[in-house]
Amino acid sequence: MARNTGPVCRFCRRENQKLFLKGDRCYSDKCSFDRRGYPPGQHGQGRIKFSEYGLQLREKQKIKRMYGLLEAQFRGTFDKAERMKGVTGSNLLSMLERRLDNVAYRSGFANSRTEARILVRHGHFTVNSKRVDIPSYMVKKGDILEVCQKSRAVVRIGAALEAVKRREVPQWIDLDTGSMKARVRDLPARDDITAPMQERLVVELYSK
Ligand code: SF4
Repeated sequence: MARNTGPVCRFCRRENQKLFLKGDRCYSDKCSFDRRGYPPGQHGQGRIKFSEYGLQLREKQKIKRMYGLLEAQFRGTFDKAERMKGVTGSNLLSMLERRLDNVAYRSGFANSRTEARILVRHGHFTVNSKRVDIPSYMVKKGDILEVCQKSRAVVRIGAALEAVKRREVPQWIDLDTGSMKARVRDLPARDDITAPMQERLVVELYSK
């Protein structure tokens, strides 16, 4: 499957926001955004004025990069969100949050979404006692995500759970660290997503 393999810290600097793509490093003084909080490239430190289209494009790129999706996957999710009842932008964010890799990250089983995706692909999780290795799998209300018995000694998962205190587990997830289980108490609503995102701009961009 296609994926981004380039340096991801550039994304934070480009979008002028910490996107927390590198786990531990994002909380350390090695964070590139903290050290050089201006866009990458020769003209990064110059004045940049965005057009309306530019603002919409940047917001779409930011959200897409935050969740680690490529354009086709992101657009596909948007199309599904548009066909659903309700507000398209909120539907889009809710669907992105419900991805299994995101839920594993949010629950604290991984230090970043990229790490969560690798762990999911390697089959370290079950959903309702069945092994699921599809990062885009959408969790439902009441689903129970659990680290497989054999994977409980995986160092990465243990380290991430240790570090989870640094981040807040969202209210729609009940985490039981001891049994390495997370229950989806409710589907994520717009208010549960606290990272600054203006999904309205994405809807405007794709509606052109
Ligand atoms: Fe972004 Fe993390 Fe890199 Fe900092 S360390 S620039 S937050 S990906």
